[in-house]
Amino acid sequence: MSQKRISFSEEERQNIFSKTGGTCEYCHKDLVFNNRTEGERGAWHVDHGIALAEGGSNSIRNLWPACISCNEDKFTFSKTEYDEEFEMEETVGKIKEACNNNLPGVSFDLYKERRIKR
Ligand SMILES: [Zn+2]
Repeated sequence: MSQKRISFSEEERQNIFSKTGGTCEYCHKDLVFNNRTEGERGAWHVDHGIALAEGGSNSIRNLWPACISCNEDKFTFSKTEYDEEFEMEETVGKIKEACNNNLPGVSFDLYKERRIKR
């Protein structure tokens, strides 16, 4: 995880926050504008839709409000990839439910490991 940090002005943060009406772009949890520290209710960070490391910019078009767990979970995934991951996770959940009893040796946690190593 080598995401470059830049700081945003209050106005920029307000603009970014407003893009989703104050919810996390990814999980749609309500965010609290003034909370930025992990553990605070609704704490959020500015997220790069396309990570700087992957050629994303600091333009507002590429910036989204994200709750801390989504922001940290996402690493350098692009926004599209991450949205797909969310859908995929839902699917995996359904598969897991469906075959839990039939495939006791299969670990669906492998899926998560792959995601984190990338
Ligand atoms: Zn979130």
